[in-house]
Amino acid sequence: MAERIFRIAIDGPSGAGKSTIAKAVAKRLGIDYIDTGAMYRAITYLVLKEGLDPQNEEQSCSVLDHVNLELTIDGKIIINGDDVTRIIREGEVTANVSYIASYKKIRLFLVDMQREMSKNLSIVMDGRDIGTYVLPNADV
Ligand code: C5P
Repeated sequence: MAERIFRIAIDGPSGAGKSTIAKAVAKRLGIDYIDTGAMYRAITYLVLKEGLDPQNEEQSCSVLDHVNLELTIDGKIIINGDDVTRIIREGEVTANVSYIASYKKIRLFLVDMQREMSKNLSIVMDGRDIGTYVLPNADV
């Protein structure tokens, strides 16, 4: 018999402690944690790496044509072959991620990916729009 899929959504503003709780819950339950903030950060990294202007919507959205974003089971964030797990926490990405997260095309791209990733998998996902928008039918 197929195992039941269980999805937990944690919403809340930046700095509320979502990811700390999400990681602890995922560990306790033995399921995957999907850090959606890291996904916006990885796109920001790519925009900066390509010398594009994060404040320019058209330039920033152009990376969607050739982006390959992976979240590995051991918690690494890989974008177009670069392991960016650490660098996406640093100043330049942090200072620019809110521009990137405001662009509709980028949000649609990442929300699609987040929904796809949680389709057949038990997960904990956190972010400011998870229970309200990304996974409105989450179990918890
Ligand atoms: O949680 P974290 O600080 O890593 O998120 C980085 C930024 O990505 C947030 O400040 C926010 O602008 C954006 N974000 C978002 N929607 C999410 C997760 C993060 O807009 N679901």
